[in-house]
Amino acid sequence: MDNLTESFGELVFSDRAMAERMSDESYRALKDAIRSGEPLDINVANAVADAMKAWALEKGATHYTHWFQPLTGVTAEKHEGFLGCGRDGSAIIEFSGKELIMSEPDASSFPSGGLRPTFEARGYTAWDPTSHAFIKDATLCIPTLFFSYGGDALDKKTPLLRSMDLINRECLRILKLFGHEDVKKVISTSGAEQEYFLVEKSLYDQRPDLVLCSRTLFGAKSPKGQEMDDHYYGAISPRVSYFMRDLDTELWQLGVFAKTEHKEVAPGQYELAPVFADSNTATDHNQLVMEIMKKTALRHGMVCLLHEKPFAGLNGSGKHNNWSLSTDTGMNLLAPGKSPKDNLQFLLFLAAIIKAVDEHQDLLRVCCAAASNDCRLGGFEAPPAIVSMFLGDTLYDLLTSIEHKEEYEEGGDRILESGVCTVPRLRIDTTDRNRTSPFAFTGNKFEFRMLGSSQSIADANTVINTIVAEALSEFAERLEKAEDFRREAFRIIRHTMQDHKRILYNGNNYSEEWIKEAESRGLAHLPTTVDAMHCFISEKNIALFTRWGIYTEREMRSRYDISLENYAKLIRIEASTMLSMAQRSILPAVIGYESKIAEAVSAKDRLGVPNDAEYALLKGLSAGVNALHKRIGGLFDAIAAMPKENAEAAAYCRDKLLPAMGSLREAADALETITAKEYWPFPGYEELLFNL
Ligand code: ADP
Ligand code: MG
Repeated sequence: MDNLTESFGELVFSDRAMAERMSDESYRALKDAIRSGEPLDINVANAVADAMKAWALEKGATHYTHWFQPLTGVTAEKHEGFLGCGRDGSAIIEFSGKELIMSEPDASSFPSGGLRPTFEARGYTAWDPTSHAFIKDATLCIPTLFFSYGGDALDKKTPLLRSMDLINRECLRILKLFGHEDVKKVISTSGAEQEYFLVEKSLYDQRPDLVLCSRTLFGAKSPKGQEMDDHYYGAISPRVSYFMRDLDTELWQLGVFAKTEHKEVAPGQYELAPVFADSNTATDHNQLVMEIMKKTALRHGMVCLLHEKPFAGLNGSGKHNNWSLSTDTGMNLLAPGKSPKDNLQFLLFLAAIIKAVDEHQDLLRVCCAAASNDCRLGGFEAPPAIVSMFLGDTLYDLLTSIEHKEEYEEGGDRILESGVCTVPRLRIDTTDRNRTSPFAFTGNKFEFRMLGSSQSIADANTVINTIVAEALSEFAERLEKAEDFRREAFRIIRHTMQDHKRILYNGNNYSEEWIKEAESRGLAHLPTTVDAMHCFISEKNIALFTRWGIYTEREMRSRYDISLENYAKLIRIEASTMLSMAQRSILPAVIGYESKIAEAVSAKDRLGVPNDAEYALLKGLSAGVNALHKRIGGLFDAIAAMPKENAEAAAYCRDKLLPAMGSLREAADALETITAKEYWPFPGYEELLFNL
């Protein structure tokens, strides 16, 4: 084998590694348990633990950890040494089925939204056998779920796995009706395209806003931004290319198929796309991608920024969640095939998704709600905070013809005529892409584009699986009772179009007209996290999630609390950081420069030399400094008056703190453009963006 394929997944306790190290009987028992969803026998768990231990020690691991994804949005680990002390005082290796399947990290400081007061700090992690263990930093990482003593989910993975069970069940019902008795399992698949910025570490270190908040809170526009589009897909500099190679090598060892890497639109911005996997694995992999990007960048003297909007006036970073449904027999349920018109099964799944997205627009907005992503959504380059769907003309016309019971003429193959005779005739897709749609059909999958670059993909996939499963369940209900199954299927598609076509939009989602048009269609417009989160606990949504067993009402209310609490905390930290930067660095720096100019003004005055330039500059600086001073006061007062209670504090941040921060920034950025560079206390946009 070549080096590349041989080292791929080297640090993953994969199916292959398991099969090699376990007896046939135990391995089969494990696979059966995973397939059937039955609880695992402790003897099998012991066998897995033994094999895993031997494998990990061989690879040089010294520690193990239950690796979990609490509601902080990042991963958590608590390392335990493999070494223990035997009865005779000698060193022994301690790790058995018991350590594998459960652990009790104290972990009382993770957010629980009131589900777990600190005085009852017990939390449990439980092994998730459907995601492979791996080795990172000489530590065996075992993917786990995280629960409270009372059995409430305290993490992002538990609801995701519940939703994967649900979508499996409902898809199987439909597939059975279409005669696919051979299909035993349907999984949701995800591929998360990850955008990020790189900045020089030594410059980053000089900016408290980047260090504390991962985004610039001040910064005048650079004379050059992204207007030339010369960064997009441009040649990658040797330094960044070296970083990417290093990153790929690490990810490949961890079994992450990092596939394409390219420069994005904004200067300093890049993207990594992996090959898709089942949504559970994809979620873990995306967390690893983000973690390893940050670590690798540091080794190269750079910092990787995953914030959604590190620089004002430039594109922000998103995460595109590509989503589809696959069967264990290798069928992609969203592949239209050669003739979508005759593919009733595909059209039915498509209808279910249309119905789901229209009925639960609010939830798709909720699952990407965060203060950091609010800085990006609705910007001129990001999808607006309004959910709509793009199908492309072909599918749209086809569904419309079904709605109106008309005959549909399929267009046939489209051939690209390049006008160059040596170029072969190219068969191309029947519809073009739409890059502005928040939920776009892209050939054989949907691409959900509202997620922010720093967010876990777990919540989004939980929502998509649940809402689509609900629609499928309604369809199955009707179809199972129908006398003429095909007729009923067409009727369902027709009704879906009649009731839900308002969600379909093929035009430019970034335009002003669309916001007006969306309003007239009655689509939900939830510009901020605060607006969105209130919808999460609406009667409709509590009924939805509890009916399908994805969240309990308690879990939902706790998540609502945590989300608003995080929102308020984050904005408060940003406001305090701004205040400190303005008061302790910007104001004194500008006053220093101002005094220097004042000296020049009076010196020239004494000499009777014209001092128009110095005088004009002094006037400008003085006006700016006074404005800055006033706005510092404004922000100080706003922070002091912040309410305590979560929901109130969050609304206050949106209505009072963010505007006060904006107005302080405006004053400081104006001063940056007239203050001598040597006086300005922080590296500016030009240096930050064009230095690599
Ligand atoms: P695009 O040009 O649409 O960005 P790609 O084929 O490069 O197309 O895919 C982008 C992302 O979508 C990749 O991460 C890819 O793995 C993922 N993807 C492709 N097919 C599927 C699928 N069936 N389910 C989920 N994700 C998918
Ligand atoms: Mg994409």
